[in-house]
Amino acid sequence: MPDFLGENWKQKQAHYFIDKDSVDKVKINLAANNITYQMRDVNPQIFKVRRRRDLNGAITINDVNNRYLSYDEQMQFLNFVAQKYPDDVKLQKLGNSYEGRSITAVRIGDDGSSKPIVWIDAGVHAREWISYNVALYLVYTIVSQPAYRDLLNSVQLVVVPNTNPDGYEYSRTNDRMWRKTRSRFTNSRCGGADANRNYPFYWGTQGVSHSQCSEIFCGSRPQSEPEVLALTNAIQREETRIKGYIALHSYGQEILYPWGHTQRTYPSDVQDLIQVGKAMASAIRAVNNTDYNVVNSGDGLYPAAGASDDWAKSRGIKYSYTIELSPIDD
Ligand SMILES: [Zn+2]
Repeated sequence: MPDFLGENWKQKQAHYFIDKDSVDKVKINLAANNITYQMRDVNPQIFKVRRRRDLNGAITINDVNNRYLSYDEQMQFLNFVAQKYPDDVKLQKLGNSYEGRSITAVRIGDDGSSKPIVWIDAGVHAREWISYNVALYLVYTIVSQPAYRDLLNSVQLVVVPNTNPDGYEYSRTNDRMWRKTRSRFTNSRCGGADANRNYPFYWGTQGVSHSQCSEIFCGSRPQSEPEVLALTNAIQREETRIKGYIALHSYGQEILYPWGHTQRTYPSDVQDLIQVGKAMASAIRAVNNTDYNVVNSGDGLYPAAGASDDWAKSRGIKYSYTIELSPIDD
């Protein structure tokens, strides 16, 4: 079974990742089905990115813009931002990952008032590295640029830049294409669950696997992953104040709206979600002329039950989205 490299949908090229032992078999299958294709060895690219030496000293926004940080460096950067902007930034521990790393939320503009919250989290899929840097860049930009003062007077942002620290570290040190968490199971040669199939809403129904070795293993039960439990608990504590939820993934250049657990099924206020999605897309287009498509996740992508945006929507968070960020060469 080939692995989705990007989040593909019908009207685009599909990008798949296959291991080198499967190349001949895949070529025969593609030819037999009259499918045109290109194959590329992505190993050199993967190792070039990974082997950059980590430098000593304080982590700055230049590092965030130029390289992928280790989990420890990400946390150093957040501490640096919290120290530099103590009135605007508070760090909050939401819980621990399976291997005991802190799941840290950055609360921006938390002035004790009850203003609405926009929640943004990133990196539930370990190999989607750009999502972590985008979240860190967002934190820094919002607090360091005066243009966002008005925004912070009216809303509070909660940003969780690394929702899967174990998986991320594993993708840096062992397997660049690792996607899941790093939980271990007794008597199994495979570990980890797809945390974005582990949320407690239509859990385990469509677009998931119940096999521990699958890339889309949904876990042994809803919220079996400690990362998901920490996030759902934290969101539920203040869910009536959270008006927007965005999960950052890569890649596809899409703004996806619920429901995603099945196809051709939409929330009753779907027109509002489409309208705000399109406003986000045109705001993005205004900066770099980058075109984001606004699509329903179940119809445009494929049904995937137990995803975070569906769950957030089910908890009454009106504007819930998944954003598939841009690939490097588009
Ligand atoms: Zn993803």
